[in-house]
Order: sequence, then C-alpha cells, then structure tokens
Amino acid sequence: DIKRDPKVQIARLKLPILGEEQRIMELVNENEILIVSGETGSGKTTQIPQFLYEAGYAENKMIAVTEPRRVATVAMSKRVAHELALTSKEVSYLMRFEGNVTKDTKIKFMTDGVLLKEIQSDFLLSKYSVVIIDEAHERSVYTDILLGLLSRIVPLRLKRGITLRLIIMSATLRVEDFTDNTRLFKTPPPTIKVEARQFPVTIHFNKNTYSDYLKEAYKKAVKIHTRLPEGGILIFVTGQQEVNYLVRKLKASFPYRKDVDYTKLITKKTVNDVDPALDSEPEDIESDDDEVEKEMKRMRKARKKAKQKSKQLPKINLDDYDMPEDDGQADLVSDDDSDGHLSDSDVEEDTLAPAIKSCRQPLWALPLYSMLGSERQARVFAPPPPGARLCVVSTDVAETSLTIPAIKYVVDTGKKKMRVYSHATGASAWRVVWASRAGAEQRAGRAGRTGAGHAYRLYSAAVFQHDCPAHYEPELCRRPADDLVLMMKCMGIDKVVNFPYPTAPDKIQLRLAEKRLEVLGILEKYETKKFKKKNAEEILKVTPLGKAVSAFPLLPRYGKMLALSHQFNLLPYAIALVSALTVQEVMTGKADSWPATGNTLLLGDPGVLLRAVGAAEYAHVKGEEELFCAKYGLREKAIKEIRKLRKQLTSEINLSVSGANVTIDPEMKPPDDKQAKLLRQLLLSGLGDQVGRKIGLDEVKDGEDKRKFKYAYHCSNLEEPVFLHSESILRKSIPEWVVYQELYETGGTDRRKMVMRNVTA
Ligand code: ADP
Ligand code: MG
Repeated sequence: DIKRDPKVQIARLKLPILGEEQRIMELVNENEILIVSGETGSGKTTQIPQFLYEAGYAENKMIAVTEPRRVATVAMSKRVAHELALTSKEVSYLMRFEGNVTKDTKIKFMTDGVLLKEIQSDFLLSKYSVVIIDEAHERSVYTDILLGLLSRIVPLRLKRGITLRLIIMSATLRVEDFTDNTRLFKTPPPTIKVEARQFPVTIHFNKNTYSDYLKEAYKKAVKIHTRLPEGGILIFVTGQQEVNYLVRKLKASFPYRKDVDYTKLITKKTVNDVDPALDSEPEDIESDDDEVEKEMKRMRKARKKAKQKSKQLPKINLDDYDMPEDDGQADLVSDDDSDGHLSDSDVEEDTLAPAIKSCRQPLWALPLYSMLGSERQARVFAPPPPGARLCVVSTDVAETSLTIPAIKYVVDTGKKKMRVYSHATGASAWRVVWASRAGAEQRAGRAGRTGAGHAYRLYSAAVFQHDCPAHYEPELCRRPADDLVLMMKCMGIDKVVNFPYPTAPDKIQLRLAEKRLEVLGILEKYETKKFKKKNAEEILKVTPLGKAVSAFPLLPRYGKMLALSHQFNLLPYAIALVSALTVQEVMTGKADSWPATGNTLLLGDPGVLLRAVGAAEYAHVKGEEELFCAKYGLREKAIKEIRKLRKQLTSEINLSVSGANVTIDPEMKPPDDKQAKLLRQLLLSGLGDQVGRKIGLDEVKDGEDKRKFKYAYHCSNLEEPVFLHSESILRKSIPEWVVYQELYETGGTDRRKMVMRNVTA
C-alpha cells in the first residue's frame, strides 16, 4: 500500500537495480549475508531499503543503513522517505549531534560510528532485522570494525532464532576483500553484481600538471561552458573552502538573474562545431615554440575566437544585463607553490575574459561537501533553472556516495583530502594527496550516467601512471597501531590481534602496541579465569587512565602526559610540550645556540623545545615570528603547526575537562623548580618504555676505542649501544639514566649508528 508519486515511479523504472528486485530479495530471504556490488548510480542506496520495506522487513524491527559520510546519511534518508511517500518519522537519520529518529522509525540511516556505539550497549542489535553497510568500499575505520563485529553477531542471532540479515553494499571496487577472507566469513557470502548502463566517457589528460589546480579547474569549466554543448559539469576539488571559492568565482563570471529569460539568449552549441578535446587544441600542443611567440599566437587566437563568438550572439539590451563582477578574490588562491608555468597560464586566463564577457548563459554553480546544510545539499538533485547550465563543485562525496543527475562533463583536479597519520607521534592531519587511480575512474564514470560524456583530468597521464596509487590502503591499516588498539579496547573489543578485520593490520605491530600500552598503564591484565573457563587466557583491558587518554587525538603516550597533567598548573606546559614533541624537525640550527637556563636544562632537550615554543609565541604576538625563527634556527612551518596543535588541544581540554580553563599565554613563564620536576615525571610517564642507561667505560670491551663510547647508552630492547643526538643539550651533563622520545638511524652502512632524539635526564 505504498503510494509513490508517478514521477518517482518513472525515475525508479530507469534504474538498473529495479530489474533485479526479485533476484535480490530471493537472495536476501535465503541467506543471512549478501554482498551487493554495483556501479555508482545504479540505485543500491535508494532502492534496496525500499525492497526490504516492501517485503515486510520493517514490520517488527527496523532496517538499519550505515553510511561513512554524514552528507549521504541525511540526503539518502530524505530521498528514500520521498520515494516511499513517507515522512521523516518513518524514514529517519541519526548521526553525532543530529538526527530525527522517532519511535515510529522503520528505516534508519546512520553514520557507521553511530551503529558502532549502539553495539556497545546492545551487542545483538536487537532493534534491527537487517543491517545494510553501505559504501563498504570506502573502507572507513568504523565500517571495517562494524563488518568484523557483524560477522560474529549474525551467527549469534541465528543461534537465538532471531535472524539478523547483513547486506554489504559497495561500488565495484575490491569486493574480494570481503568475499575471499575466510577469517571474516567462513563461507563466502553470495554476491550479486548490478550491471548498470554506462555510456562511453572520453578521458582527456592535461599535457602539463600545474600546481594551482583550482585555477586550472576554473579555466576548464569556463572553456566547457563557453564552447561545449549543453550538459552538466561536475568539478572535483578537495575541500569546503575550495568548493566555496570556485562556486563564487564561477557565479561571478556567469551570473544568473531571476528577471532574465535565458532560454531566448543562449546560442545553441552543437556537437559539430566544437571539439570536446579542449586540450588538444593547437594552442596547447605547440610545446617547443618560443614562449613569446606562443603567447602571442594564443592571444591572437583567443581574440579571433571571442570575435566569432560575439558575432553569433543575439542582440540584447546591455542595460538589462549584469556584467561579470571584477573578480577580486583571485588572491585567495594560494600562489605559494607557483612555478614558471603559472605565468603562462595567467595569460591564458586573461584570454578567456572575452569569452566570459560574451557568454550570456548563466552557470548554475552549486557547492557540495559533507558539512553543507541539507537544504542546500538537496539543490544539486534539482534541475537548474531554464536556460542555465548545472555545474556542481564537489569534494569526493560525489565520487560514489551521491549521484548527481545529467552530468556530461567531469573536471577532475586529481586531488583529495586524506587523513595522514604520523607513525612517530600519532598526530593526524588532513593532507591534499593524489586521488587513487580507482578513484579517478569512479570520478570519470560520473560523466557517463545519462549519455556519452567527457572527463578532463587536470594532470598528465604520467602523473596518473606514476604518482597516483592504484588504490589506498584501508584507513584502519594506515592508523598507528597504538591508537587503533586503544580505540578498539575502549569499544570493548578485547582481542584486537585476532579480530576478523576485512583487511588485517600487521599482527606483530598490534602485539607490540598492546605491550607498550600495558607498560604505560593504559591497558592492564585481566584474567578470564574469574569465570572458571578451562583455558584461562590473559586479556588486556583499558584502565581508567586509558579511558581518559583515549580522548586525546594523539598517540596514547602523549595523551597520557596530558591526562596526568591536571595538577600544579602543569597543563599549559604539558600542552606546549606535547605539541612541540609531536611536530617533527622543529630545530634546524644548533640547540645550544639556545640560552637554556636553569629549569629548562633540567628538562633536557624537551626543555629547550618548550622554551623555543614559548619564545616563538611571544615573537608571534609581536609580529616578529619570521625573524625570530630565522635567528634561532627554528623551522617556521613547524612552529606554526605547533601553534595549531596547541590551540586544538587547549580548546579540547577546556571542553572535556570540567573546571579546566587553560589559555595560551604568550608570556608563559618558565616552569618553577617544582613544576620542572613534575614535567620530568610526566615525560617519564609517557616515555617510560624508552629508557637508556649510560654505558660505563669499564663496560667497554678491551680493544674498543673508549672515546667512541662517551655518549653511549644501553637501552633495554637493543643489543647495540645508542647515542645522544649530536645536538642534544644533555651532551653537557651526560646523565646516568635518560628517557628519549625517539630512536633513529644515522650514517651510511659502514658508519651506521642508533641515535636518541629529545632526551631527558
Ligand atoms: P547507488 O547507491 O547505486 O550509487 P543511488 O541509489 O544513490 O545509487 O542513486 C540512484 C539514483 O537516484 C541516481 O540516479 C540519483 O541521481 C538519484 N537520486 C538520489 N537522490 C536523489 C534526490 N535527492 N533527488 C533526485 N534524484 C536522486
Ligand atoms: Mg550509494
């Protein structure tokens, strides 16, 4: 008794998955687990929940759908509600900080993290009849852990006679990770592949790869809009700021006015009078010509083109028309990395100006990114106003999560933002990296949903071959082991080494991490013998300290330093210290060019760092940071990163620790004696598994050169001696016992030696 809107009905019938409804539902009814792979846009996310609903799966329990991205969680719940002619009361969503679930909810879309939280309080997921894990190919940490847990929950529910069904949905990418993994699923679950009609997409590579990919994207969009036949444009950039910048710039170039009837103004571009291979135009091919000659040719050509264009234009009343605004935002694009190429691309951009001016057709430029409000998100699915051309500027959410209708041209910067972890410190940062080749193929595919299309890659074929990885490892395998182990233990997953991961991280690393965390007091032994099991085994569980530590976005050892510093007004120092320690290569000059005094000397190298960071903050407030860094041999970028981390940690602590009111004081005094002593203890508490003992000269074997052992230490887990860093301030005192932050290798093969960095007595 579903009363679908006829329009919805028509749109649904076009989806390839509709023809598979019967086959899919038979497989669902007969199996607990099913894998559905299919091209993006084939209808998996919007249709399968409806099939299940219509088959009665939401009658007693709910249908759960997890999404790794917030933007898809909201958009898909709305779409499914609309298609089923139900309200958000029945088809709802839930994510951190936001949701509209009611007691009548039948289909519940949620982020993967939310379902993971629910498992912690209801392991058997008793509210649900089916769990759909959508976008499994994205391989988010939470999705991977969910799959591991569900592989065990499903048989448990079966044993109790209340079947739980699991449907894993994925784009057609590396499905083998789920099917050919007997630790995950003893017998491979049935797999169904939804074939979708895909029209040919012509791929165009750039000849050169320019660092200013935003400018390139803008230029390409202008060329497409002014020269190529109708059809939506989809541009991939890396983040919200880039999206907004490009949308503003495109809107300013091709503005839309409500009071103009654009349907009359457009010159019809037909397929015959243009060559979609915008890059194989002669202006881009002549590469060996003399630069000046080339530029002149380009300008002549552009002028000629612009003239031709203006001839084709119908007469319009200029008083009734908005001229494109002079775009004063160009300096928003960072020109930091500019190389010689940029100048000639500037000229090219200028030559586009006449084409822009003479183009009367507005570009309906819309942003799309994860944090965009749902109202504005929804606009990308609606047709543009008559006469305007749709142009969506998106992050990689439009790669597989959301399918935008009627895209004919894809402009791909080839970049994406990825969380990159430092294995030394556990600090993570979003970095712009090359998208994988698999990702680039997905992006290109977006141009071929409704007809033949074109994908313009704004980088060279060589970059594609050599710089883009085939695909990225799942995030779970990229995270530092300590941090992953602590996260899973906090979720109540005790056996992290034998956990049924879809792709398992290195077992030895996991074991070592467990050991380290135990030494640090973040995990502790817990005997299952208490329950009189025959094979009592020892498992490690999180301590209360560990719980506190897990709140910090840092490797547990640094989190521990922070968690223990909420006394004697140590927090501001601990935050500065930890921030400095987690950024690499702060000092470029000699550490002892630093007038290290009294207490800071007590703290050893981290004390020098602490002083440097404090002084740099003061210089920053006075606007003299650059000079200061140069003078004292500090890497300015590192100092800026430290400041960012300090701010982040400070605000997080103020939010999460009641009563904490930490500020960053640019005139922070050096710690007093007592504080310095306590800070040393904090360093020891976090680095207690990395201790060195001075090798006495009497321990040096006969025949060895004793002078070589002046700065040599013995540390527990190494046979060979380790040495104080050549810039270490402790070379002055050579203390008996030290803790160090990090060991590293120096010298060539013949003079190889292990060196301790950031050492404290
Ligand atoms: P898949 O999950 O297989 O990638 P989807 O179910 O997300 O596919 O999309 C199926 C179709 O539904 C696509 O053509 C898409 O454009 C359309 N669609 C999805 N959401 C909306 C919406 N809010 N408005 C209009 N069409 C939509
Ligand atoms: Mg989908």
